[in-house]
Amino acid sequence: MALRNICVIGDEVLRKKAREVTVFDDRLSELIDDMIETMSFENRGIGLAAPQVGILRRVFVVDVGDEHGLLEFVNPEIVSSEGKVMSSEGCLSVPERGGTVERPEKLIIKAQNRKGESFELEAEGLLAICICHEYDHLEGVLFVDKLVEVEETT
Ligand SMILES: [Zn+2]
Repeated sequence: MALRNICVIGDEVLRKKAREVTVFDDRLSELIDDMIETMSFENRGIGLAAPQVGILRRVFVVDVGDEHGLLEFVNPEIVSSEGKVMSSEGCLSVPERGGTVERPEKLIIKAQNRKGESFELEAEGLLAICICHEYDHLEGVLFVDKLVEVEETT
């Protein structure tokens, strides 16, 4: 495993749409392991998407510290969502900025794991918020694009 560099706002890789994963090989596993290490140990984040480490593939990892633990999503698809909450967010790729965005309360997501096996998950609260935030990264969208309120954290 290795730590990867986090791309920050201004880097055009963060603005591109990530491509579907079609090959479930050791390279994919290595990417996911590196992302987990980069997220948890280096930066203490609760989520990280592949474009944030410069890889335009539809992969993200999430660990909000709840009973679901560490989750890996490959080729995710948000099947349905309901409700609205205001979410105060930050992002490893947008250093020293925070702000409030609107997110769904609950959602159902379908994805594959690193072996290519499909699964479906129902998420709510912080987990649902985090999944939406990471999913946006795969579409080239950052939370600062959706702000309803800006906070200065510097
Ligand atoms: Zn982010």
